[in-house]
Order: sequence, then C-alpha cells, then structure tokens
Amino acid sequence: MLATSMRVLVIGSGGREHALVWKLRQSRLVTNIWCAPGNGGISQQAECLPADLGNSSALADLAENLRADLTVVGPEQPLVDGIADEFNHRNLRIIGPSKKWARLEGSKLFAKEFLDHHGIPTARVYGVFASAQDATEKLENLRYPVVLKADGLCGGKGVLVANSYGEAGDFVDRVLEKREFGEGGQRLLVEEALDGEELSFIVLSDGRDFVPLVPTRDHKRALDGDLGPNTGGMGAYSCDGIISDSIEAQIREGVVEPTMAALTSDVFGYRGFLYFGLMLTSAGPKVLEFNCRLGDPETQAIVARMDFDLAQVLAALAAGTLEPSRLQWKPGASVCVVIASEGYPGKYAVGKKIDGLTDVKRISGVEVFHAGTQRQGDSIIASGGRVLGVTAAGASIDAAVSLAYEAAAKIRFDGMQYRKDIGAQAGRVHAVGD
Ligand code: AMP
Repeated sequence: MLATSMRVLVIGSGGREHALVWKLRQSRLVTNIWCAPGNGGISQQAECLPADLGNSSALADLAENLRADLTVVGPEQPLVDGIADEFNHRNLRIIGPSKKWARLEGSKLFAKEFLDHHGIPTARVYGVFASAQDATEKLENLRYPVVLKADGLCGGKGVLVANSYGEAGDFVDRVLEKREFGEGGQRLLVEEALDGEELSFIVLSDGRDFVPLVPTRDHKRALDGDLGPNTGGMGAYSCDGIISDSIEAQIREGVVEPTMAALTSDVFGYRGFLYFGLMLTSAGPKVLEFNCRLGDPETQAIVARMDFDLAQVLAALAAGTLEPSRLQWKPGASVCVVIASEGYPGKYAVGKKIDGLTDVKRISGVEVFHAGTQRQGDSIIASGGRVLGVTAAGASIDAAVSLAYEAAAKIRFDGMQYRKDIGAQAGRVHAVGD
C-alpha cells in the first residue's frame, strides 16, 4: 500500500534540487518537505536544514528524525559514498542506487569494463595509466583529438578532449604528477574521440522495470556557439522530436535495454535515476558516460514537462513497483537558461544582490530555479558560480526559448552572464545519424 500522505527529504543544494522540490511539493500526497542543505530559493518552498553531504550516517539520522517517508538524492557524491546502502540497511526509503552501481559514475574504468563486458557501444580505449611517463609515451603515438579521463569523481573537471599532444601532456602532468584531482585522479583513461551530437537520456528504474524520461540536450561550454571553457552546464532543453523515432529505437535497443538487462539481472538491482550521456555518431549512439543521478540543468528542463505526480511515482519506485505508464509528458518543449556569476567557470564574484525576481514571477510558464543563492533578510544574494536556472515551457522550442529569455532579461545582478543561444540548435540533432 502506498502512503496517502508523504514526508519527503531532498538532499542537495543546486538548481536540480530546487526543481525537484518545486515539483514534489505540487503533489497532493506531500504534506512536509525538507531540503538538506538547500539554498536561498529552495528555502522559500521547503524548510532547509544544515547537512554534511559527506556523512551518510548523519543523513540517515536526519531522515529518521524527520520521519521522512522518502529521501531523494540529487548529487553523486553521497551515492558514490554509499548513502543508499546506509538507508536500505535502516529500512529507510531512498531514491538512488547502491554504492556498487553508483560506481558506474564513480569510476570511469568500472563503467568502461561494464560497457565492454555487455557489448554496449562506447568509445574505444587506448590505454589506462597510473604513471605519467607511460601515459605520455602512449600519447606521442596517437592521432588527435583524443580524450583523457581521470578515473574518479573530479567535480566535472576530470575530462579533456585534447586536440594536440601538447594539451594532452599538460593534462597528464596535472592529473598524474601534480595530483590536482587527488583520489579521483589516480588513474587516467585515454580513449577515442567520438564525433556527433550529444544527448542526455535518463531512465528511472525500480530494479526490475525502467522508464525513460524525455531526452534533453545540455550546453556545457561557457560561451555562445559552444565556445569557451567547459562548465557544469549553461543551459538545457527538451522538445518533441529532439531525436527521430529511429534514433530513439537505436538508443533503446542498442544501449538502454542491454544496460538495464545487465543491471536487473544483478541481485542488487539498480534503483533510481540512471543518466546515459550519449554521442549520436554516424555509426549509431555510443555511451560517453553514466551518471548515477539526474543531471543539472537537465532536471530543470525535465520537470517543466512532467505531467504526472512525481511524489507518487517515486514512492512507488522506492517500494519496487514502478508504473511506467504514469509518466506522461506535456507536449511541446522546455528550456533552462543558466545565469552565472562574473568569472564563472573560473574564480567568480559572489555576494551580489539579485533584482527582478518578483517581476519574473508574473510571467506565466516560467520558473526560476535557484542554484547558488542565499537569502539575506528580504534579499536574494548570488553565492555560487551558477546562480539561477530560468526555466520555461511552451508549445514549441521557439516559444519556450523566447519566454525564458524574456524572463532572463528582467533579472539583474552585477556581472551576471548567460548564453544567448540555449535551444537554438534544437531540431538539428535528429539530422545526425538518421
Ligand atoms: P564525461 O564526463 O565522460 O561525459 O565527459 C564530459 C564531456 O566530455 C562530454 O559531455 C563530452 O562533451 C566530452 N567527451 C567525453 N568523452 C568523449 C569522447 N569519447 N569523445 C568526444 N567527446 C567526449
């Protein structure tokens, strides 16, 4: 029997978690909602509680003390640390995979071995190196570009698409000599660079059944035209027809179904969100990476199109009875435009007061999800690199994009920056590999 009232705890502090809180609290089942640690925007919709995301046992204590019926984990680190095992051990319901399967994100080598073992298409590996000398010797003899990946979690900074031996050598030095990524950089994977369009394909699984969410595309580079340095994500969009039916079938049959078959055959089935980072190559879809959780800012675009009760779906999933048919989507499109602080993704300015948020509330079809903000009295202050995710839904991608930019133009803080071309390439994706 599913609960008729639910007390929900969301773990994390970014735009993804704000989007989850926003969607979950719309459910008539949810009577109480908390976020640990949350942020300035989330605090307007849920009670925010201080938390150490590195301490799974303290987080389980918190869920127990709150008598939470369900805990939803946003970021990867607690999952890789084993928070789901701690919760399961105490009979607390949680959305997120066990430590064993969180390694699909926590170790790029583990993910590669899994993919190879199950014959799932991915980039060819040229070598795995623990010594800088061995890595540079190999890199001397490769044709560029090639891709270098630190094995472990590196806060999104552990991957380089190297265009020359010089660039590759510098990265090897940073990872294997200077140990800039600490534990995450003990080994370096060198692989083939794939060419094509990227796509984020996320599925929800209860360990037996799975159901895909609407596919999305994110924009990782800081500047318009996909120029500038890599970031945590400057925007994302989702729209009907983002991929053709034939590409979708290739993704399902060639990638998702074999992956889920491997995971469900394991006694510790995969329970939670599984994110497939795909490259749509001319030879078909290939896996670039797995994430063991939802993406940020993809989640913001995804929740904007949900036409179902997320709390109800997640409660069923945690009980092992996912009902795929419940996941219905609003037709059309959604887009999330990220507003960042001056200097991001490098050293960025903080402490700037944000104006215009009340004006945006008047625009229907737009939600502003907070990422790096704090509340100070009645004001909202920018406190992170990525600050806000202005998210809009519409009947078409053009409608969603113009609504999001109309709203973004009303927001003001010193040094704010955002890309002007989020969603502009929609419709081009399905031309590739079709
Ligand atoms: P990952 O964390 O593995 O997804 O890598 C981050 C980004 O690096 C991806 O979103 C791609 O843009 C790029 N990338 C990773 N692997 C490859 C590859 N084999 N070929 C081309 N680009 C890649």
